[in-house]
Amino acid sequence: MNTSTRKPSYRGSRFAKRTQTKRHHSSPYNRTRRGGGRGRYASSSKLTDATFINKNPRTQEEESYTPTHTFADFKLHPQITTNLAKKGYIHPTRIQDTAIPHILAGKDVVGIANTGSGKTAAFVLPIINKLIKSQHKEHALIITPTRELAQQIQDEFREFSHSMKIYTTLCVGGLNIRRQMKELKRNPHVVIGTPGRLKDLITRGYTLNAERITTLVLDEVDHMLDIGFLPDTTFIIKTLPEKKQSLCFSATMQPEITRFLDALLTEPQTISVRTSERGEHIAQDIIRARSEADKLKELIRMLSQQHFEKVLIFGAMKRGVQNLANTLTKNGFSAIAIHGNKTQPQRQRALDAFKKGKVKILVATDVAARGLDIPNVSHVINFDQPKTREEYVHRIGRTGRAGKPGQAYTFVS
Ligand code: AMP
Repeated sequence: MNTSTRKPSYRGSRFAKRTQTKRHHSSPYNRTRRGGGRGRYASSSKLTDATFINKNPRTQEEESYTPTHTFADFKLHPQITTNLAKKGYIHPTRIQDTAIPHILAGKDVVGIANTGSGKTAAFVLPIINKLIKSQHKEHALIITPTRELAQQIQDEFREFSHSMKIYTTLCVGGLNIRRQMKELKRNPHVVIGTPGRLKDLITRGYTLNAERITTLVLDEVDHMLDIGFLPDTTFIIKTLPEKKQSLCFSATMQPEITRFLDALLTEPQTISVRTSERGEHIAQDIIRARSEADKLKELIRMLSQQHFEKVLIFGAMKRGVQNLANTLTKNGFSAIAIHGNKTQPQRQRALDAFKKGKVKILVATDVAARGLDIPNVSHVINFDQPKTREEYVHRIGRTGRAGKPGQAYTFVS
């Protein structure tokens, strides 16, 4: 059934029933809903110099997790298991360990998880399994807030579904829409997109082969809320069949998000994995500088040290970020910029060059802070301070990933 015919009173009586059911769980999801706060990382909380200091990062042993399942326990299609081994995954991460059994059982899932937790594979593996079991009939739609994250998810799909004849399409802004229209006509098994572009395509009559979509993934819902994407996302969801499995991931669970998810999900299983979200395993310090010229001098001094191997520098404004990358290049550093004024292919190229180690320094606006999985970033430097704690935690979370040590510095005046 196409739900676009549904009345705008999106919740209806099902909403009340579900709310009641969910009260039986004492999950963090419900607790947050009743408490209604954003917790320690509320954007409104004040940033002080102390926010940017952590001289005793937690050790990796303290962070380690012993899974209750092996990948073999999930009884995934043998080719998926082969692809997993090729990728070098041996044990499931906490989110994979807890979420995959529920997802395989067809349940709706809310994962309170940040990037770095392994959440991508937690939904990608069961979706591939479902596709294969249904002989490629059960399709999936994945909505993410950023183009880069969408690209990253597509890359992971390709790796895990290698030689399984699963076709994915990327529907994001900044890339040729005609090509995306053409690809949608070929009924890909998995569509991965950002809300604005997906809505645009649907409005132009490309319905994503909606009746086949039996799994919907909403990734980084908190970020979607921040950029005002929830209305577009609601528009897209209304074009999908009512009966579907929904999997939602968010690093935080503020009231707007719980209200939004209440309307979408049926008796969801809530899984909370927030260990490294606070960046407690990342060494953090401040650097005092009186002027912009001082900051630059100090930055150059730092970058000249050998152990600053792969450095992500955050700036506030697009132009400032570009100028800083140019200045660093002029000073003999291998640097590239990524910001909203670059075209999507330029952004992708810059990111690839940094990921592959062809350039040593990536200077970025917050476009690069969320969701991106860049291996082995040795240092994050906040040349300009972030505006909120959340933004800060997301920025520094680009280092210290996958059990590696991480160091973050923030310039203060
Ligand atoms: P994600 O949170 O999905 O962005 O994943 C963060 C990083 O962890 C990525 O580099 C993944 O390739 C990696 N990763 C995810 N799951 C596992 C696993 N079970 N074993 C090893 N690495 C993993």
